[in-house]
Amino acid sequence: MPFTDAAPDLYSAEPIPAEARAEIDRILQSGDLFRYNAAATSPVALLERDFAERLGCRFALAVTSCSSALFLAMKALELPLGARVLVPAFTFAAVPSSVIHAGCIPVLVECGADLRIDMDDFSSKLDDADAVLISHMRGHTSDMDQIMALAATRGLPVIEDAAHSLGTKWNEKNIGTIGRIGCFSFQSYKLMNGGEGGMLVTDDAQLIARAVIMSGAYEHNWRKHDLIAAEAEKLQNCLPLYNMRMNNLSAAVLRPQLKELDRRILDGRHNHDYVAALLNTSPWLSVPAPLPPELRAPDSIQFALTGMSDAQMLTFADAANVRGIPAQIFGRSENNARAFWNWNFLPEKYDLPKTRDMLLSTCDVRLPARLTPRELDAIARILLDAALLAGQGRAYGT
Ligand SMILES: *Cc1c(COP(=O)(O)O)cnc(C)c1O
Repeated sequence: MPFTDAAPDLYSAEPIPAEARAEIDRILQSGDLFRYNAAATSPVALLERDFAERLGCRFALAVTSCSSALFLAMKALELPLGARVLVPAFTFAAVPSSVIHAGCIPVLVECGADLRIDMDDFSSKLDDADAVLISHMRGHTSDMDQIMALAATRGLPVIEDAAHSLGTKWNEKNIGTIGRIGCFSFQSYKLMNGGEGGMLVTDDAQLIARAVIMSGAYEHNWRKHDLIAAEAEKLQNCLPLYNMRMNNLSAAVLRPQLKELDRRILDGRHNHDYVAALLNTSPWLSVPAPLPPELRAPDSIQFALTGMSDAQMLTFADAANVRGIPAQIFGRSENNARAFWNWNFLPEKYDLPKTRDMLLSTCDVRLPARLTPRELDAIARILLDAALLAGQGRAYGT
């Protein structure tokens, strides 16, 4: 890396595949935007079919967001009001929010320096829990073998928040297909960009039938979900309608992106591992390693700032930002939605020193799959320079 190019833009998206245009034109021409307007093979139904096939699961239901999918998952599991749902404390504010939306109580579980769930704290909180919601935050997978085994001993259902984990595998199985229900996001910063959108997946016909109806398959619209019509028929008029359906335009934007997934996954992993190896050469930066069964599909990188004082950490973030790399320390950027102490809406308060320490020393940088090798070098150089500057204790600009 003999020289440093200007920092690339880490927030702009990839173009939507051109193939989406013809389908969008067709939909606009017909005005057929509502998924239940036409036959069973609406664009939304085709997206559900292809997504389920891609993940290797029986059923998929397209909804308005991952938050909607999480809410419907808890409703489909028939968790009673006030049920206690374990949630890792390192997650996005929308996740405990979805638990509250479903009338349940989020119980935060400690996460360690490796960004994953602290299994001792998890075990100690299991006895009082009614369900487990595992948020694979930033695509980092906690020990799913232990989590599934421990939950099974108590008969607790496991929901996977795989919003940011599309394409990640655990023991060669797709993340999102390990628990009873998996939930994905198509918000623009995720691997498939629909602007907004979400997907709920499961192998359980009764769960999906409940979710289909509650997502808004009113009257006999559930008949258009032909795989589960027999299950849904038994539920006629028995469930509330929360109306969280995806519309056909979103599906038309999303469906051609399934063909881009393999490339995005491979390039994202390559980019991440390339930058990680460079950052790990610094005594002040440390990228957590994946767990052995985990094959990741990252579109961002997280690393710990080690051996730095509070002031040095801020110097690091300022120096990277001044050179055009938005580097956010989770716990040190104002009102960060991933810092649990900002979630003043929680019904119960938590003191979680391990998670707090991790959030106060872990930095987050986007690393989209579209970046070129030269851009990756520029990003790594800027972060390494910032670490050197901060680590040597000099103020920026001196
Ligand atoms: C983005 C994200 C969500 C929320 O997804 P929406 O589709 O915006 O509701 C939830 N959990 C994680 C881990 C996320 O990254």
